[in-house]
Amino acid sequence: MAQTDNTLLLAIDQGTTSSRAILFNTQGEICGLHQQELALSYPQAGWIEQDPEAIWRDSLQVCRAVLQETPSALTDTVAIGITNQRETTVVWDKESGEPVYNAIVWQDRRTAAVCEQLIAQGKEAEVSAKTGLLLDPYFSATKIAWILDNVEGARERAEAGQLLFGTIDTFLLWRLTEGQVHATDATNASRTLLMNIATAQWDDELLALFNIPRSMLPEVRDNVASFGCTAQSLLGVELPICAMIGDQQAALVGQACFDKGMIKSTYGTGCFMLMNLGAEPVASKQRLVTTIAYQLNGQTTYALEGSIFVAGAAIQWLRDGLSMFKHASESEAMAQSLAGNNGVYFVPALTGLGAPYWRPDVRGAIVGLGRDTTSAHIARAALEAQAYQTRDLVTAMVADLGTAPAVLRADGGLVANQFVCQFLADILHLQIEVPAVTEATAWGAASLAGVGAGVFAGTEDIASVWQKQHDYMPQMLSDEADTLYDGWQQAVRGLIGG
Ligand code: ADP
Repeated sequence: MAQTDNTLLLAIDQGTTSSRAILFNTQGEICGLHQQELALSYPQAGWIEQDPEAIWRDSLQVCRAVLQETPSALTDTVAIGITNQRETTVVWDKESGEPVYNAIVWQDRRTAAVCEQLIAQGKEAEVSAKTGLLLDPYFSATKIAWILDNVEGARERAEAGQLLFGTIDTFLLWRLTEGQVHATDATNASRTLLMNIATAQWDDELLALFNIPRSMLPEVRDNVASFGCTAQSLLGVELPICAMIGDQQAALVGQACFDKGMIKSTYGTGCFMLMNLGAEPVASKQRLVTTIAYQLNGQTTYALEGSIFVAGAAIQWLRDGLSMFKHASESEAMAQSLAGNNGVYFVPALTGLGAPYWRPDVRGAIVGLGRDTTSAHIARAALEAQAYQTRDLVTAMVADLGTAPAVLRADGGLVANQFVCQFLADILHLQIEVPAVTEATAWGAASLAGVGAGVFAGTEDIASVWQKQHDYMPQMLSDEADTLYDGWQQAVRGLIGG
């Protein structure tokens, strides 16, 4: 590793619930952090939007704040890495920079019928073979088409080359470089349904299928690349943007899962488990998705991913929708106050079910309610659901690959909850490792920016920084875990039929 005593790396972590700017030193320690909560709007059932101007304003403001408040940050920061909520779609005017519609958030289900139609036309096999994904409204393509078809004049303007598309990485980059750079990275591109993951290039047949003009699309680059510099007027310094990477892939990097077979699971708004597949993609038979884990020096590494739409969002819903508590962390004491779940299960399909069920049409349910059920049972059921959903994914991965993992590295806002971590270990019969760098996603982006800036030689240097903070070992008898999991499976079957 190069001599880097005072070197700082800035991560912009634009997530679903908040925008953060975090300054790391080269040991992965946080030297400064600013965060701004981001609102979601729900204009109709199943629709979820965010204001792109708020995303931009907040991201810029947290960067300015952290650079100003952290001593010598303006001189010691050498590079920026951007990581972002994936799939969320923005379309804007190339000249004015104005978005033509709100950002359509990844959880949005408005294009479920379009996806069903394409599935009924027999298109899913061909789309999956190229993209590694499934025909689900989760991914960007149908969201882009929706904007073009529903915003007056948008399709004509797009066809005339006047509109640009970007996921949040691209939108922020375009704004940070004052419209100089319209680019994305291979991981974000791999979530659009428009890229062939074997070639890591946009695919004309897919563009035709979803009716999206190629001129709207950003250039696809490696995760570590020259993405341009921030305009002087924005941050007071021109900082090079050396890395961009989708949030879940960033967590895989931040958790140093660089060897084939290593798994991380991130518990934020949703829960996303990624297993490193190495250089060869594996097509899932269990309705997981195959995606690009990272692309460095033109070499693509793939991952198998299980995507669950609602994880921490269920706790947020208990807080905001049911006013059950003021802080998400209060759910832990509520769950711990009980000896067991009393047969209460919460299937948190608040925006449909993701992997391995892929049922955008179903909605959540709480089952097993009795006269003795209290809010603590419901809080506990929401936390337990994190582990049951994870077991669904691990079961699918084991079925796909034929090998069981030895350990799971967990991160994200929810791992602050010790009940969740212990229950994960119990239900999965697996060792759960929580890293010392709790902001694994941001660190993933920052550390790759460090590679771009020459601070780190490569992934080996990032791996040497990773440290475990805590282990959770299984304490429950496996029979008991299996019985509890049976109850979950019954609750899910009750929702999806069969
Ligand atoms: P994202 O990156 O998706 O915005 P975070 O990783 O910041 O999400 O995690 C935030 C989510 O975690 C929220 O949905 C919140 O409800 C949940 N959360 C945070 N802390 C706790 C806790 N101690 N117990 C339970 N849930 C928590």
